[in-house]
Amino acid sequence: MDLSRRALLGVLVKGGLPVVATAATGGAAAAFAEDTLPLPAPDAVAMLYDTTVCTGCKACVSACAEANGLLPDTRLTGLYQAPLTLNEFTKNIIKLCDPVTGPQSFVKQQCMHCLDPACVSACPFGALFKRTTDGVVAWEPTKCIGCRYCEVACPYHVPKFEWNSQNPEIVKCEFCRHRLAVGEEPACTAVCPTKAVIFGPRSVLLDQARARVTAAPGKYFENRVYGEHEAGGTQVLYLSHVPFEAIGLPTLSPDDRPGRYMHWRHMVYKFFAAPVVLYGIAVQLMRRNFKDHARELREEHEHSRQDPQL
Ligand code: SF4
Ligand code: SF4
Ligand code: SF4
Repeated sequence: MDLSRRALLGVLVKGGLPVVATAATGGAAAAFAEDTLPLPAPDAVAMLYDTTVCTGCKACVSACAEANGLLPDTRLTGLYQAPLTLNEFTKNIIKLCDPVTGPQSFVKQQCMHCLDPACVSACPFGALFKRTTDGVVAWEPTKCIGCRYCEVACPYHVPKFEWNSQNPEIVKCEFCRHRLAVGEEPACTAVCPTKAVIFGPRSVLLDQARARVTAAPGKYFENRVYGEHEAGGTQVLYLSHVPFEAIGLPTLSPDDRPGRYMHWRHMVYKFFAAPVVLYGIAVQLMRRNFKDHARELREEHEHSRQDPQL
């Protein structure tokens, strides 16, 4: 059950606290029933990135910045779009991993659009949400309170907070949802000259990735696709010729599904929200009583001026 701040206020004001208690708990049975999140449709959008085809040209980094209206990150050189890691200027980055001692590989990093996203599970007010249509994990600024729980929860360290802004936002890849809305693919996949990263339905790209593995046994690490099962699966899939850990992809169990506990976590948030809202109502009541008292004093004063006997 999704109870927004506005809805919670409405329940409190109209129905009083007992209703809130019922609404906040939502019934243990209902919460258990919703602990397993519905997975997106088989045609949920996805990306497939293959380290063996990436040339590290960074065309995808610049295209992402341009498509999303991000300022170039020139803090390193002062001259060029050269972010060191994912940050508030950069939703997509190419890194060169272990160039000296380890196996060399480029890697593209952005939001993984998890099937069961930890950031969505951690967000108290539903500012981060997973679209049921295509599975894109998107951000709604009007609901964000800037708590940064999403930053802490994400196993891939993706969401970034704009520390230097007076109106800070959470910055992360949203699959170029403004481009999807007009039938275009994300800027990074559209611009990639070698098709190291491609766009399509998850089911199709997964089949394609498996076919590449089957066609070249031993070429890819563990002969498997990263993102098929990790933490319940992701909508960005990886094929890598080096160990996944070497390109910064953590080892996650298929059972590590944060959504299982989302409703209990959100219930706790709601219990914390209720005292805050009650405090606001108490302040409003005190202010109204104070105004009534002041009006009575004024009326008494007027009355006594008109009737000198009093
Ligand atoms: S990678 Fe992180 S930010 Fe992206 S959907 Fe998964 S948990 Fe959320
Ligand atoms: S900072 Fe992150 S977790 Fe907190 S409300 Fe905003 S999107 Fe949600
Ligand atoms: S545009 Fe393609 S080849 Fe170039 S860095 Fe990005 S993913 Fe690699």
